[in-house]
Amino acid sequence: MNYNNFVEAKRKLSSFAKRNGVVVSWVFTDECANYHQRKTKKQPARVVIRAKQSRSKKICVFLHELGHVMDYQKRPHCHKFYQTGYSAEFWGGKAVPQYQKKIILLAETRAWDEAARLAKKLGIRVGKRFQFWKRKSLASFENR
Ligand SMILES: [Zn+2]
Repeated sequence: MNYNNFVEAKRKLSSFAKRNGVVVSWVFTDECANYHQRKTKKQPARVVIRAKQSRSKKICVFLHELGHVMDYQKRPHCHKFYQTGYSAEFWGGKAVPQYQKKIILLAETRAWDEAARLAKKLGIRVGKRFQFWKRKSLASFENR
């Protein structure tokens, strides 16, 4: 992804996030990319993305995290169900029970599907890298 396309895509996604009340944080730590739902009405939803990675990955991850936002907007009834997947256990390094893995994979796959829709809607072209990062990301959840 060349620099101009990157800047343009980032601008489009930042403005989409803003319109949807999502705060975007670019971090220089090892923190994983993440989407935090709002916990109270006053608190904004927040997306965290690592600043130090390739341009195409940053855009794909940005798309994906906003995909979670779109999925939650489309399926608010799924919030609690998803939470049963992403429980504390999951991040504690222990083996994840199959049912939790399935829930997480469903939520993650839906976020990638929404991300693809968003890219199309905003006219962002990420090409083959999108499928590459999607596969890699989903595999990382499967292998926990
Ligand atoms: Zn995700």
